Formats: sequence, C-alpha cells, structure tokens
Amino acid sequence: MTKRTGPAPRIHSVPLQRCPECKGKAFTEGLFYDLPCTVCNEMGVVCRKTGESLTPNRAAVSLLSVVSAQANTINRLKNGAEKHDPYAPLSNRLGGKHRMD
Ligand SMILES: [Zn+2]
Repeated sequence: MTKRTGPAPRIHSVPLQRCPECKGKAFTEGLFYDLPCTVCNEMGVVCRKTGESLTPNRAAVSLLSVVSAQANTINRLKNGAEKHDPYAPLSNRLGGKHRMD
C-alpha cells in the first residue's frame, strides 16, 4: 500500500551542491553593494539533481545530514589515528622495539 495524500512518511535529505552563481557565498557582488543571490535564495547551496533552490526547512535537513556525516568521518579518523602504532611491524626483541637493520 502506498501513501497517496499528505506529507511523505519520511523526510529525506537531497544531494546538495554549491550554488553556481554565488559559489556558495550566498551573495553576489554588485557594483557598490553585495546583493543576495536569487538563484539559491541566500543559502549558498542548490539541489544537485535539479539545480533549483531549496526551501529553508529542506535545506536545513540536508545540511544537517552533511554536517553529521562529516562529524562521523572526523570521529572515525580520530579513533583510527589513536590506534595507529608506527612501530607495530617491528620486533619486540630485548624488551623494546628493534628495527633489525
Ligand atoms: Zn547562490
């Protein structure tokens, strides 16, 4: 059974890309003033598939998913860096690490 009316049962984030007009700055440089970008509605990102601007709620959900994915990547790299032992492949002869060369 598919739902045909009402809001979607799940809110999915949309793939984002930087606005091609303002290059992600959310404003364009006018002659005397900085002007708000009309392509992305001053958000700096647009939908990757359609190239259209997003509603503020949709952009917030999508940007939150990007931020959480990057935080997960940072935590994974930090945990991996702490466990890294550069002397691990060396032998542990005579009570310490020995290079054997
Ligand atoms: Zn823009």
